[in-house]
Amino acid sequence: MSFPSVRMRRLRTTTALREIISEVELNPRDLVYPIFVDEKAKNPIPIKSMPSYYRLPLNQVVNEARQILEQGVKSIILFGVPSKKDDAGSEAFADNGVVQRAIRNLKKEFGDELVVISDVCLCEYTSHGHCGIAKNGKIQNDSTLEVLQKVAVSQANAGADIVAPSAMMDGQVQLIREGLDDAGFDQTAILAYSAKFASSFYHPFREAVESTPQFGNRKTYQLNYRNAREALREMELDINEGADILMVKPAIAYLDIIHAAKAKFNIPLAAYNVSGEYAMLKAAAQNGWIDEKIAICEILSGIKRAGADLIITYLAKDVKSWLSST
Ligand SMILES: [Zn+2]
Repeated sequence: MSFPSVRMRRLRTTTALREIISEVELNPRDLVYPIFVDEKAKNPIPIKSMPSYYRLPLNQVVNEARQILEQGVKSIILFGVPSKKDDAGSEAFADNGVVQRAIRNLKKEFGDELVVISDVCLCEYTSHGHCGIAKNGKIQNDSTLEVLQKVAVSQANAGADIVAPSAMMDGQVQLIREGLDDAGFDQTAILAYSAKFASSFYHPFREAVESTPQFGNRKTYQLNYRNAREALREMELDINEGADILMVKPAIAYLDIIHAAKAKFNIPLAAYNVSGEYAMLKAAAQNGWIDEKIAICEILSGIKRAGADLIITYLAKDVKSWLSST
């Protein structure tokens, strides 16, 4: 018998052969583009640690979304940077808050063509930069829930298709579901940041939205990065509380969590390819240390292969340019 009888290289011989046996394929519709809307900005404000990415003034959000749609991407997630912050994060649920106004503008322009997701949290809106209400230097769970509920209802009222609670407070999905239903928004979906880890990879985002905590850190509410079982337990709780989509955040260092969640739960799964992951990629590319387009395809294909149905990524805006390099 000749050796080897199994030759794995046969199906790798040509580009077309490799194409027809590809197990996953990135599609622009898998991607969600984050937009940071800044109430104070007059022009796009560059974010130093996120090359080619900007905080936008309210009047440029519609134009940005139009460019996203032209790329074949169908959804965006909105984050707000309010002109004033306070201890209670009250601008987060203001009817004329910056995110609420952005949602209204987007829905007026695009209707159902664009899926508008809005982040539900307080960290961009509190003067102390934490995701919840603080008392004596500690983040209060239950009083934060009442505020998150108001935030979600105000965003749904403005027209958000999906609200995405990211504060990692216990019981947040259930309280938000109840609040939405009571207010008549039983069709507004919840994308739960269920497995959100306390991560060093959020650093550029905090620069972007000026949400660096002024005391302590977020480890009393975000997950310990050593724990996978605890992450799955969080996800299970969120399903029981009424989540429609689950999320793992960050993505690259947590592919095992994405994979395990996909195997365990029958519910759409999102992964957040976060700011620090973007910053690392851009920094290496700017130094000529990696081929950026190929690296993007490899990273995002890996996240999809692990099991993510949706990938939130700052790279979505240029999807057509890098997708052609697969
Ligand atoms: Zn937050």
